[in-house]
Amino acid sequence: MKTVSNYFGSLVFDDRVMKGALSAKVYASLKKTIDEGTELDISVANAVATAMKDWAISKGATHFTHWFQPLTGITAEKHDSFITPSPDGGVIMEFSGKELIKGEPDASSFPNGGLRATFEARGYTAWDPTSYAFIKGKTLCIPTAFCSYGGHALDKKTPLLRSMEALNKQALRILKLFGNDKVKRVTSSVGPEQEYFLITKEMYDKRPDIQLTGRTLFGAKPPKGQEMDDHYFGVIKPRVAAFMEELNEELWNLGILAKTEHNEVAPAQHELAPIYTTTNIATDHNQLTMEIMQKVAARHGLVCLLHEKPFAGVNGSGKHNNWSIATDAGQNLLSPGETPYENAQFLLVLCAVIKAVDDYQDLLRISAATAGNDHRLGANEAPPAVVSIFLGDELNAVMEAIENDTPYQGIEKTQMKLGVDVLPKFNRDTTDRNRTSPFAFTGNKFEFRMLGSSNSIACANIMLNSAVAESLGTYADRLEGAEDFETALHEMIKKTIKDHKNIIFNGNGYDDSWIKEATEKRGLLNYRTTADCMPHLLDKKNVDMLTKQGVFTEAELQSRYEIMLENYCKTITIEANAMVNMAKTQIAPAISSYIAKVAKTATAKKALISDVACNYETNIVRKLSALNDTVLVKVEELENAIVSLDNAKDIGEESAMIRDNVLAKMSELRLACDEAETLTAKNYWPFPSYADLLFSVK
Ligand code: ADP
Ligand code: MG
Repeated sequence: MKTVSNYFGSLVFDDRVMKGALSAKVYASLKKTIDEGTELDISVANAVATAMKDWAISKGATHFTHWFQPLTGITAEKHDSFITPSPDGGVIMEFSGKELIKGEPDASSFPNGGLRATFEARGYTAWDPTSYAFIKGKTLCIPTAFCSYGGHALDKKTPLLRSMEALNKQALRILKLFGNDKVKRVTSSVGPEQEYFLITKEMYDKRPDIQLTGRTLFGAKPPKGQEMDDHYFGVIKPRVAAFMEELNEELWNLGILAKTEHNEVAPAQHELAPIYTTTNIATDHNQLTMEIMQKVAARHGLVCLLHEKPFAGVNGSGKHNNWSIATDAGQNLLSPGETPYENAQFLLVLCAVIKAVDDYQDLLRISAATAGNDHRLGANEAPPAVVSIFLGDELNAVMEAIENDTPYQGIEKTQMKLGVDVLPKFNRDTTDRNRTSPFAFTGNKFEFRMLGSSNSIACANIMLNSAVAESLGTYADRLEGAEDFETALHEMIKKTIKDHKNIIFNGNGYDDSWIKEATEKRGLLNYRTTADCMPHLLDKKNVDMLTKQGVFTEAELQSRYEIMLENYCKTITIEANAMVNMAKTQIAPAISSYIAKVAKTATAKKALISDVACNYETNIVRKLSALNDTVLVKVEELENAIVSLDNAKDIGEESAMIRDNVLAKMSELRLACDEAETLTAKNYWPFPSYADLLFSVK
């Protein structure tokens, strides 16, 4: 019988396969590279390449590819076959260590934000041995980093790996101070919960907006949306269940630990969560998950929408980035320990996270910023655009006790003294109550909830790892030189709480009064849109920190700023153009036809009975005529707003013009069209309605 444990990871060149296929010496050497980040010898690479090729061929693979994550946000691959001609006219299957380690995709069409001068048009990909190779279709995929020949990162993986290294380095310094000198490596782990929508292919085919932009640009509110809350955790429909079953099977084959699945709040919305794993692997897996979701959906006559806001007025989709740090011995540094010393270490790491999130609120906001996600943040369905931390009552009380030197009721001692008191274990159930916080402590991990559903999780984790590395580094600098470690430690934790308690908020993040308090009283940042936050990527404090941690060079940051804003501008410009096109060629003509039809009815009625009342017809004709005139005006205004973007002197100005003009004009056009939809006979309206879309999967 085909059981999951039999086929789990069957398409992955994982540790089990390596152990069997490699000599003990080669295996040990590779393992050292994977576990400790040591450099790889070419003779080892050759041996690994041969074993990988033989294994892949035995699984039916004919090609290999360096699989990488350019700044487009999706993955890229260029396939080469294993074949090499042999003198006798046949072919042999070959794959060398060199081909495994380094590839040279024609990189000139990937976004580089000005990083690659023309003389340096090529980039190269480099094997990331810490993420297992796998087979997709007939291709052996080798996870790689993507760089320019000048060594600049052109992808999301390189800085992610660098940020993990930075975190490792600083965390090891801290652990050493607590006497943990056996630890060799500290790694961050992530479990990303992924939300998505499923609609039928039939409906998708009738919506040019979804096809072009991933979301509906028009659509009147349906009579029934998510008001009844009857979808959340509801019974999964058979067609969706079949999709999930096949999805799980594909993911399990790839060694992806898909664990939970359920219906989400909105109709047609679902969620999948894997079991957490090392951050760069979790990132690779999440990219694969999104890709496979779309493929499997297609096989079921469905379309998987990963856009953050496919439907206005209905909850959008996000991603919850559950993040923790652990040692190679499996100690979770965000888990309160058993001894006073472990507790003190836990509190220090916790403080490092609090300080990091406060100092780099802007970077965290930026890491989740896209045109799509701007629709969610602050719309009372996802956390606000203001970053804050939820600690829960229990931990909060501990923090207050330390800050004020007052007794903590959970502990019998009279005063909270680090290195003496043992903290209570924080129960997940008591901490994970607040769902409105962007950054919530959930017992032994933090859940960063701002990410959009289509985002790569790389960016968020790059910023998180780097910022926490920075605060740990600052702590280590001070503690390493301290005369009395325990006193210095206590003072530092106390100072962090004092300095950064403004970022801690345990209330309802969806409350309007919170935004007022956060911005006016606490001075927290509130960057509502991508255009607002992105320029701060280049603020001196951010450039200083990210370059100091060795995660980005200044040139890389400049290029990322350009690419992300370009992406924002392009996305919205495409949406705006799609709206103009749909309004002009489908909506306005449909309204007009319906007006003609109603007017004709009135004329016919009058011909039959000369004094008949035509209130209904007159009313509809009057209202729709006025609306269609408005549509015409709004289309022109939107077109002008798009044309005026040509005057922007740089991408920063263009993004501001989009935020201030284009988006407003898009809303106005939509408003007129949506109202017209509610007055037009269904069979005249050119697109399926929201109800058709949201309840299409039976
Ligand atoms: P929720 O109530 O938020 O849905 P789950 O129990 O489903 O919580 O967990 C959400 C995610 O958090 C899962 O992907 C899980 O593997 C992950 N997770 C659990 N523990 C950790 C940890 N220590 N570090 C990182 N992620 C974790
Ligand atoms: Mg969650």
